[in-house]
Amino acid sequence: MEVIDLKSMLPAELENYMASIGEPRFRAKQVFSWLAKGAERFDDMRNIPQQLRTKLGESCSINRLKLLQKQVSRLDGTTKYLWELSDGNAVETVVMRYDYGLSVCISSQVGCRQGCAFCASTIGGLVRNLTPSEMLDEVLYSQKDQGEKINHIVLMGIGEPLENYDAVLRFLRLVNHPDGLNIGMRHIAISTCGLTEKIDMLALEDLQITLAVSLHAPDDETRSRLMPVNRETGVARLIEACEHYYEKTGRRVSFEYAMIDGVNDSERQARQLAALAHRVRAHINLIPLNHVEERSLSPSTKENFRSFCRVLDENGANYTVRRSLGGDVDASCGQLRRKREQNLTRDPLNTPHKGVNA
Ligand code: SAH
Repeated sequence: MEVIDLKSMLPAELENYMASIGEPRFRAKQVFSWLAKGAERFDDMRNIPQQLRTKLGESCSINRLKLLQKQVSRLDGTTKYLWELSDGNAVETVVMRYDYGLSVCISSQVGCRQGCAFCASTIGGLVRNLTPSEMLDEVLYSQKDQGEKINHIVLMGIGEPLENYDAVLRFLRLVNHPDGLNIGMRHIAISTCGLTEKIDMLALEDLQITLAVSLHAPDDETRSRLMPVNRETGVARLIEACEHYYEKTGRRVSFEYAMIDGVNDSERQARQLAALAHRVRAHINLIPLNHVEERSLSPSTKENFRSFCRVLDENGANYTVRRSLGGDVDASCGQLRRKREQNLTRDPLNTPHKGVNA
């Protein structure tokens, strides 16, 4: 018998479910808010009658995350979590502190199949999609551990969120719901490697989220070298999708651009980048490349970084240089999970459980 994942259900669906098992619809709201508060057992739901708790326990599940590892940056307090999912897979979540509060960066897949040349998350390929409730748990468990409300979410952890489109959209609606975490769509950002058809679909949902596009190169030759996804679609089609997104939603996209020595940091590329950004009125986020052990690419030199910025200035581009947080805690996506996998392969009997249970 299939076990029902109640935490992935929206209130209207929970109502239908309650009706289908002969219970009053108002129970749905109660159960939804317990789950959104992070209740781990039906027995914790004190305003639900015992017979209903037992009934729910027989056919439904509440998934949990187990904390495998937690690293807190001594530099800026950035916290990185490695969680174990119910099937033994692991994902990473990072919590960062900004002036406006806590922001959580969550994973949307176990592994990734996009194959970007600079990224640690993709090295072992894609294992599976995360469910909406697993993504929700990344927020709930991080919030519980922090002891403070999280008010911003970015989907910039492991995985390509738009490849797991339906689950990600459901997750957005769960966290946005007033009876749930009630996090405004404007406080949520999705980062994509540029799946153009999915960007077109997302534009039609007309959500007020921020769309971040990992551009990393303005020309097809360089972008295809760094990001295999570009070989199918090309920069021109991606820019078209960004324009369409802006027209439909009125929300400016942002371009993520990791500065890689001798690859994408020439003055010519700065001019090309400024022109693309101008066309879609995008904001550019320049990111110093995080070194990943397995990758041979290096961050741009200070001189190249500076002249790249100068050309952007001269061309009137709108950009910021992203502060690099958590440099001492493997905060670049995929690094912790990758280390765990290597430990597992090196010594299969070695227990990976270094942390305390959540
Ligand atoms: N698949 C999505 C989200 C995951 S990656 C995407 O491609 O956008 C989140 C961001 O981190 C992306 O902009 C990605 O390109 C960037 N990134 C990955 N590895 C990096 C590294 N080593 N240094 C700097 N940025 C990196």
